[in-house]
Amino acid sequence: MIQKHCHQCGTALIEKELEGEGIVPYCPQCKDYRFPMYNVAVSMVVIDEQSGNILLIKQYGRPHFILVAGYVNRGEALEEAVKREIKEETNLTVSRIIYNRTSFFEPSNTLMCNFTAFVSDASLMSPNGEIDAYQWFSPVDARRNIRPDSLAEKFLNAYLDTVEKPTGQSVPVRCDKNGECGSEEFADLCSHLQKKLFDSDGIYHHLWLAIQNDPELSAVARSRQLHIYRKGKKVLVLAGKAAPKIIRDDSLCNLLPNNK
Ligand SMILES: [Zn+2]
Repeated sequence: MIQKHCHQCGTALIEKELEGEGIVPYCPQCKDYRFPMYNVAVSMVVIDEQSGNILLIKQYGRPHFILVAGYVNRGEALEEAVKREIKEETNLTVSRIIYNRTSFFEPSNTLMCNFTAFVSDASLMSPNGEIDAYQWFSPVDARRNIRPDSLAEKFLNAYLDTVEKPTGQSVPVRCDKNGECGSEEFADLCSHLQKKLFDSDGIYHHLWLAIQNDPELSAVARSRQLHIYRKGKKVLVLAGKAAPKIIRDDSLCNLLPNNK
């Protein structure tokens, strides 16, 4: 879908060399270069901050689950478009946005820009008329249910691959013993939780060290909390302010400050 005519005067464009840019369409009437125009859209992996679940929707009478998406208005920032589209289509309020990746979608001449958008209160979900159906999925089930071989699937998997293994198990992490954690993955943790884990006098610091020293244990940052697994099975969730959530009995839980 490349423009063949000048958008100002309608004259047929010719190809002309532009220094430093190569061959660029040129209007001999306006005597000006006409760079190719295309649409810009945002698509979002919407995540419930409380549960870590991912929102998939069905639209246009089609049977497959896809991501929430929409075109960017002229003059609008991508971040604004992310918040506006989610608000319009779902009534949910975005609390935090992470850039994921972009991909050009030839069939609609559109640059698709994908973000992960966290929403703080999924109970406010109220789909508008553009959404036929919706469902919140665990990350593992979201992978299984997203439309196969779609750009949405590529975006979703790319995001999930950065936070977990394809099996849904967590990625083992290591930090140096001074509590310095270089992994960007953990920059997403709630700042209160970071202090509790990584400061040498933090109340969870001994748990953090125990995780580092036990090859069966691994941890992953999810929805600002630390999810801890033993051999791939979740045992404990640590939060910045909320009480720790014990998922199953484990020796690690005996190390909790209020669980001696
Ligand atoms: Zn022209």
